[in-house]
Parts: sequence; structure tokens; C-alpha cells
Amino acid sequence: MKLILLGPPGAGKGTQAKILEDRYGIAQISTGDMLRAEVKAGTEIGLQARAVMESGALVSDDIIIRMLANRISQADCVKGFILDGFPRTVPQARALDAMLESKGVQLDAVIELKVDDALLVERIAGRFTCAKCGAGYHDVFHPTGVAGVCDKCGSTEFIRRADDKRETVAARLAAYHEQTAPILPHYAALGRLQTVDGMADMGEVTRQLVALLEPVS
Ligand code: AMP
Repeated sequence: MKLILLGPPGAGKGTQAKILEDRYGIAQISTGDMLRAEVKAGTEIGLQARAVMESGALVSDDIIIRMLANRISQADCVKGFILDGFPRTVPQARALDAMLESKGVQLDAVIELKVDDALLVERIAGRFTCAKCGAGYHDVFHPTGVAGVCDKCGSTEFIRRADDKRETVAARLAAYHEQTAPILPHYAALGRLQTVDGMADMGEVTRQLVALLEPVS
């Protein structure tokens, strides 16, 4: 299964992509996670991307397209993949079309998670992850069972993303509306775009996604 999850930051793409990854045994490809790994490793790409990411703007199409092309050529993507956070601009969407065409691969679904901006700010500004196992939490919507202790692995260390600050979220949402939302008509014109209510709770969003991916025949 080859799938794109579209939607603004905080819409739940990463959370749902992980659930679908487990359910279907296909690779979740998050360009945001890949960039954060490059920043952490101090690579050339990481050095170029860091300040841009912290400002809430988008990293250049050149860097992203090269990174993504390498990633989807890897063996674990043959069975399928879920793109989370890519494409984010019209040139990225066009580059992806060309990449898939050259491999003779077709997308199975392009699904937008739709959420109001006001809720996004609340969702993003409170989120944090376990530094050890990566489990995701939220100060209000999904706190740990015991304060300061990860439910899954018991670790007491947590990470908050540098770009999840309230001030930066506004810039990320602006980038979404200006540069990413214009790709929705691109997929709509191809007859590929489907929409899910990203305001619903996590389990309900998963149910809606699965209903689109496994239509009852
Ligand atoms: P994310 O984890 O998807 O919210 O991405 C975090 C940040 O990484 C974004 O705010 C951008 O600065 C950068 N980024 C991730 N994916 C892309 C992409 N496809 N194009 C440009 N920048 C990206």
C-alpha cells in the first residue's frame, strides 16, 4: 500500500502513520523525523536545515526531494510506504509524481486530515515525547499516567520539539496555508484526494482511515 497523509502540523499525521505502519507492515516516511535525525547527527543537511526548521519555515525543495528519493528507493519501501509531511509544496508533489512514474508505482490513496487552526495550536504547544522509546504525549489531551514517567518504558526523560513553541507554530501554520495547501487541488484534479475529520479523537480518525483503505466490497 502506498499512501500520502496530508494535513497541517498537529493534525495527527505522525500518530496515525505509526498506527498504519504497524497495521499494514509498511514504512512510515516522515521527512520531519529524517531532518531531525540529520540535525542531531550534525550532517551538512542538518546544518543547513536547523535554523529554517526552528523558524517554522520550510526547508528547500532541493534538499527534501533528494532525501526523499533516496529513502523511497530503499528495500523496505517495496512493500509500501506512508508519506507523512511530504510533499509539502507543489514542486515536491510534481517531483514525487515523476519519481513514482519512473518506478512504475501508483499511489493507492492521498488522504487529508482536516483540522481547524485554533485546535492545532493547542495540540502542538502541549506535546512531548519520551526521550528513550519515542512514545508521544500531551500535557492536556494525553498526559502520562504517573507525572514525569513514561507509561511505556518507565523513562523519566522527555523531549519537546524546538519548533513546537507557541510562537513558531503560527509560522508553521502560515507555511502550511501558503505553500502546502495548494497541493490539495493537485491531487483533487487527479481524482485521488480523500478527506478525514482530523478533529475527531485518535481512535475515530484511525477508524475513518481504515474505512477508506479497506473499503467493504
Ligand atoms: P514535521 O515534523 O513534519 O512537522 O516537520 C518539521 C519541520 O521540518 C518543518 O516545519 C519544516 O521546516 C521541515 N520539513 C519537514 N518536511 C518538509 C518538507 N517536505 N518540505 C520542507 N520542509 C520540511
